[in-house]
Amino acid sequence: MKKQIVLFGGTFDPIHNGHLHLALACRNAVSFDRMILMPAHLPPHKDMATASDQDRLALCRLAAEPFDWIEVSTLELEREGPSYTIDTVSALEARYAGAEILLLIGSDMLYYFEHWFRYRELLQKVTVLSAVRENAEDDRLVRQAERLRQMGGSVKLISAPALPLSSTKLREKLRRGEDISGFLPPQAAAYIREHHLYKER
Ligand code: ATP
Repeated sequence: MKKQIVLFGGTFDPIHNGHLHLALACRNAVSFDRMILMPAHLPPHKDMATASDQDRLALCRLAAEPFDWIEVSTLELEREGPSYTIDTVSALEARYAGAEILLLIGSDMLYYFEHWFRYRELLQKVTVLSAVRENAEDDRLVRQAERLRQMGGSVKLISAPALPLSSTKLREKLRRGEDISGFLPPQAAAYIREHHLYKER
């Protein structure tokens, strides 16, 4: 049997329970060998409080620790320039020769898919897995999945309740000094506190 590798990329700025919810829904719905959590490289921001590559990586590692089927990769962080998924998929194909690569994305990314760099080529290479992020968007998701299938893509929708949560909301809460402990794993929340992340500069 072919090895199946799920690529789950994002900025994870910071990683939160919505991300873990999607990863777990995928684990329950799809059989695969390994999920690669891939924090993207971000150019340093000056205007807004965002975390460094190293801090985002540390947060991903803390959040993924309880799950032996998740591996956190530094591939995109080590690569110069923008993190294009097509390049990452090619790198994974080289590393896991003969494996099937599945790409896990939230609904917002599925809607945006046709803006991705070399998305048609990407559609030929991966099976796309997606699930709703907000309530009541099922119809839109089904329509977009069908649209990408008509372009020759393989898209599988994961049925899971929405957990509407975003890193943007968390960063705003942190800037206002609000408690965020219910929104991400306790070990990640503790890291953010100890390192004074996402404060106004
Ligand atoms: P930001 O608010 O900074 O844009 P984000 O919360 O959307 O961040 P990303 O790191 O951009 O987080 O997301 C990584 C991946 O996880 C994307 O495919 C995104 O669609 C998905 N995702 C993020 N939050 C959720 C959620 N609450 N439910 C399902 N998928 C999610």
